[in-house]
Amino acid sequence: MSDPQPESATQQSRTPEQRPSRLVVLAGPTAVGKGTVAAAVREQHPDVWISVSATTRKPRPGEEDGVHYHFVTEAEFDRMVESGDMLEWAVVHKVARYGTPRGPVDEALAAGRPALLEIDLQGARQVRQTMPEALQVFLKPPSWEELVRRLVGRGTENEEERERRLATAREELAAEPEFDVTIVNHEVHDAADDLVTLMMADPQVRP
Ligand code: 5GP
Repeated sequence: MSDPQPESATQQSRTPEQRPSRLVVLAGPTAVGKGTVAAAVREQHPDVWISVSATTRKPRPGEEDGVHYHFVTEAEFDRMVESGDMLEWAVVHKVARYGTPRGPVDEALAAGRPALLEIDLQGARQVRQTMPEALQVFLKPPSWEELVRRLVGRGTENEEERERRLATAREELAAEPEFDVTIVNHEVHDAADDLVTLMMADPQVRP
């Protein structure tokens, strides 16, 4: 009987603790539940580091500065972009800017923590260019009808805002083939578990 396929030299020479940790981008259409899945990961898997984005939008009730987002002024956001502090950034829903501060991501990866960016499609595309080693995960709703139900059900947006978000969602759904892996968000804890399984896997091995 022949020996099983040998592992690559890189894998053989590293213990799991020594492996470079994995950067994972979670993107998907509006209201698919990226934020809820990320929150479930935060709760159940404190070993995973989750990026806190900067945004120029105003906080919603219950949102805390530095926890859900870094809420910044337009001028502060400009300054972060100009000084190269943003790993990626985008105008989302044509209303506000959102971006990933670069320093904390580098620090988390250097400390060996698997890191998660929950960002929009434009941001995911930028990270694909600048950090092609990142694993790109697409979170998909069980159906279009379910996505609309979730979007309307959230009730935090007015009619015009909802229409704008639906239009963005249609475009975003069409982007699924760009991604390495798709997770269907049937149930938030299952989706979070699937995501963490991917994050904990050896980053040298693409699923
Ligand atoms: P919300 O305003 O509902 O919290 O988020 C709106 C959208 O912005 C979501 O699709 C979310 O993924 C995206 N988003 C949040 N943070 C970032 C970021 O740092 N960069 C980019 N490109 N998109 C982000």
